[in-house]
Amino acid sequence: MIQRPRGTRDILPPESRLWAAVEAEAHRVFSGFGYDEIRLPVFEPTELFVRGVGEGTDIVRKEMYTFADRKGRSLTLRPEGTAGVARAYIENGLGQWPAPVRLAYMGPMFRYERMQRGRYRQFAQIGLEILGADTPAADVEILLALHTFLAALGFDDLVILLNNLGDPEDRPRFIARLKEILEPHRAELCGDCRQRWTTNPLRILDCKVERCRELVAEVPPVSELASDATRTHVDAVEAALAELAIPVRRAPRLVRGLDYYLRTVFEVVSPGLGGDTAICGGGRYDRLIADLGGPQVPGTGFAIGEDRLIEVLPSAFRERVLGRPVVALLPLDEGAAVARCFALARELAARGLVTHTEVTRRSLKAALKWAVKLDARAAVLVGANELEAGAAQVRDLTEGSQEAVAFVDVADVVAGRLPGPETVLR
Ligand code: AMP
Repeated sequence: MIQRPRGTRDILPPESRLWAAVEAEAHRVFSGFGYDEIRLPVFEPTELFVRGVGEGTDIVRKEMYTFADRKGRSLTLRPEGTAGVARAYIENGLGQWPAPVRLAYMGPMFRYERMQRGRYRQFAQIGLEILGADTPAADVEILLALHTFLAALGFDDLVILLNNLGDPEDRPRFIARLKEILEPHRAELCGDCRQRWTTNPLRILDCKVERCRELVAEVPPVSELASDATRTHVDAVEAALAELAIPVRRAPRLVRGLDYYLRTVFEVVSPGLGGDTAICGGGRYDRLIADLGGPQVPGTGFAIGEDRLIEVLPSAFRERVLGRPVVALLPLDEGAAVARCFALARELAARGLVTHTEVTRRSLKAALKWAVKLDARAAVLVGANELEAGAAQVRDLTEGSQEAVAFVDVADVVAGRLPGPETVLR
C-alpha cells in the first residue's frame, strides 16, 4: 500500500470543517483590519529563501525541499510565507499602492523537520504582513489583529511573548559579547551550536540542548545591548498593547529562527501546547525587501501555525462548528420522492443545517439505522403517500415522535426544532 510521506497528514471530515471555519474566521477578522489575501506560488526560486530567510538558518541549511525542474532550475517548496510576499511586493510594484500595504496569506508550508509532536513536514500557516510603515503603531496593529482573531476563536489563555532584537548594527557588539562569554566553553556546545558559532551565533541563544541552555544563561539578553532607538520602539509597542488590554510578557531571551527579524519580535504560546511550542511567531523585518533587491521598505508580520492552532482550539468553537445538527432525508421511492427530498435538502442546507440524503436504495428500516449512525437529529420521510398528501413525515430521532408536515413548512418546522444557524453558527 502506498502511504503518505512522513510528516504529512490527511485531514479528514469532520476535522476539515474546523480548518475551513478557522480560515473563514481569519478572512472575516483580518479583512476587517484592512488585510486581504495574497495568493502566492507554493514553490519559488531557491535563491529567494537563501537570501530572504538567511543562509545560516536551520531552515535553509537543513530543512528545505529543494529540487531541480526539468530545465535544471533550482526550485524550493516554500518553507514560510514572508519571503514570497516580499518577492511579490517587488515584482508587482506594490510600492505604487498607497502605503502601507496590508496583506494576509494562508496555505501550506514545507520544512524537512525532525519528527516530533506539533512538527510536520507539510504544515499550514495563516499570516499577515504590513509593508511600508516603520512605526511601533504598525507592530501594534498586527498584534491587535492577531489578538482579535484568537479571541474570536475563544482563546483566553494565550500569552504574547515580546522581545527587542535590536538593529543589525547592534549585532556585532552583541555577538562579540556572546563569544567572549562562551569562548571558554566552546567545546561544551552541541554540534549544531559549534557550527552556529561561525554561521549564525545568535541562534545559539535559541538552542534547546540542556548544556547549551545553561551556558547561554550567562550571556546578557540581546535586548540589553540593543540601541536606545530600538528600545524606545519596542517599549512603545508594549505600552500601546497595554492600553488595548492585550496581555504581553517580555521575553528577553526570545530570538527567532529567521535572519530577517530586527527590533520587535514576538511569539504566542499556549499553556495547552507546553512552553516551547509556539502557535505563532512574528516580528519586524525592515531590511528584507531591500536585501532581496527591492526598495528600502520596512515591514512587520506574523505567521500562525494552523495545525497547532487547531490542536488547542477552545472546545466551544469546536462544538459550534462540529455540532451543526444533521437532518437525514429519506426518499421511500425512486423518482419524484428523491426529487422532493433534494428540494427539501436545498431549503434545509440554506438554513445552515447539515443534510444527508439517502441515495443507496436502503430499506426504510436500514435508512433509519443509517440516520442514527450519522447522529441525525431528525429524519424527513417522503414516499408515494406523502407525495400525494403534499406532506412529509418528520421524525424526531431523539424523542422518536413523528408528525406529518406540509412540504412548504418542513424547513420551518425542522429548523425551528433544532438549533438553527443563529445559535449554532454565527
Ligand atoms: P516560523 O515561520 O518558524 O516563525 O513559525 C511560525 C509558526 O508556524 C510557529 O509558531 C508554528 O506554530 C508554525 N510552525 C513552524 N514550523 C512548523 C512545523 N514544522 N509544523 C507545524 N507548525 C509549524
